[in-house]
Amino acid sequence: MTPKPSIPDLVAPAVRGLQPYVPGKPISELEREYGVRDIVKLASNENPLGPGALALAAMARAMTEVGLYPDGSGYELKVRLARHHSLPIESITLGNGSNDVLVLLAEAFLTPDVEAVYAQYCFAVYPIAVQAAGATARIAPALPPDARMPLGHDLEAMARLVNARTRLVFVANPNNPTGTWLDGGALRAFLEALPATTVAVVDEAYFEYSRDAGVPDCSQWLAAIPNLVVTRTFSKAHGLAGLRVGYALSSPEIADTLNRVRQPFNVNSVALAAATAALDDAAHVGRTVALNRAGIQQLRAGLAGLGLGVLPSAANFVLVDLGRPAGPVHEGLLRLGVIARPVGNYGLANYLRITTGTREQNERFLRALGEVLGRPA
Ligand code: PMP
Repeated sequence: MTPKPSIPDLVAPAVRGLQPYVPGKPISELEREYGVRDIVKLASNENPLGPGALALAAMARAMTEVGLYPDGSGYELKVRLARHHSLPIESITLGNGSNDVLVLLAEAFLTPDVEAVYAQYCFAVYPIAVQAAGATARIAPALPPDARMPLGHDLEAMARLVNARTRLVFVANPNNPTGTWLDGGALRAFLEALPATTVAVVDEAYFEYSRDAGVPDCSQWLAAIPNLVVTRTFSKAHGLAGLRVGYALSSPEIADTLNRVRQPFNVNSVALAAATAALDDAAHVGRTVALNRAGIQQLRAGLAGLGLGVLPSAANFVLVDLGRPAGPVHEGLLRLGVIARPVGNYGLANYLRITTGTREQNERFLRALGEVLGRPA
């Protein structure tokens, strides 16, 4: 008699070895597990200001309509985005967060007989999406710790891994968890040199924060680089992380392909309404970016005061080198009601990632870290 197969035997081979994405610890979980109150969460690159007033009002109006399915085409949001980016509406694919769009790209372009290229220490969703599609991942070593962009993407190393089987290349600009970025000239040359058989994804989740550092707006290159896809999100600078809405900008041909694998109602009606309104709230984004600028300075100075260095960041977080295993430090912070993000799952066991909060939240973090390290701030 043949033995009864177990569930792991039945799972698709590509899925069998997948490690789930490790999110930041939710506030409610820390309350439940540790019994602490008055918690500061600087673990998931959220906006400490939350949504703007225009988005909140639009959400309240949309709540009365949730008995109905959303507009599956997301027409109003796409019209508004098309105007925002001066691109045709046919260039836009909406996602349940930009994460959704990244997975759609993998579903649309990857099979077990092709390859995808990304960099060491890149955003964790790229490896998961590639592996789930059964494609071969080609991982370019990151730049060394003493480079101008320590641990950042090495475009030359990435280019060396591209061949005729490469269907997707993922570039995060700036990258999470490092915060590092690529200059426009180097990135454009890299993208232009890719073969016509490769689709390039530039993930601009932190776009609004990155303008100060001179990070390029790759959406402006779409006309010149037909195989380019740029992803953006409302989760970060627009403060709508909990609603899950992001999008891709691409040629109409690529967008049409992505829309075939997209679930018909992947973005809910409250999210559609909030995102549409958020695009009109430049003042809220401006306040957010200014708060972040001050927060990065505050964290950088405070950490330097504790004898710790941070990587350069064009995003709303800093990656700090603790020079010792981050696990116990993270644990100590949790007991003091501060949630940071350990990045051992990225192979960065001595580092912690800290999202900028309000001035008070950053202060709480710095004081708690000083206490945990036995070095009062
Ligand atoms: N790209 C990068 C680089 C990110 O850091 C994140 C969020 N952690 C995402 C994409 C996905 O964000 P969302 O799905 O909320 O748009």
